[in-house]
Amino acid sequence: MAATDERDVVLREFFLGFVRLHVLYHAGHAPVCGVGLMAEMAHHGYRLTPGTLYPLLHRLERAGFLTHQDRNVGGRRRRYYSRTERGAAVLAEAARRLPELVGEVLGGARAGSVGEHPATGAGARIP
Ligand SMILES: [Zn+2]
Repeated sequence: MAATDERDVVLREFFLGFVRLHVLYHAGHAPVCGVGLMAEMAHHGYRLTPGTLYPLLHRLERAGFLTHQDRNVGGRRRRYYSRTERGAAVLAEAARRLPELVGEVLGGARAGSVGEHPATGAGARIP
């Protein structure tokens, strides 16, 4: 069904944005590896496959937000990612916008005020 597919695509885009923010957040506290990140995301209720996570990490690294270091862990090579200054700056920019979004989405849902926002009709209200 097309409508269901579109819903899944949009939800997936939201989800991937949340995952990127999580990765940038955690990689700023200690180097993180894919296996550790999948466990961390599972803890938050996100089921993430390597096929989704690794391309996401590579993309963040290509953008200059992460850097990696390979380590040998029990005979296995593991790639550990750390946040760069650029990654810290982009996370700070996203974090700066989060409270407003969260306040509006959650506050709006609670107050049932959808439609009162200037962007959703208040400016067009007929007197
Ligand atoms: Zn987390």
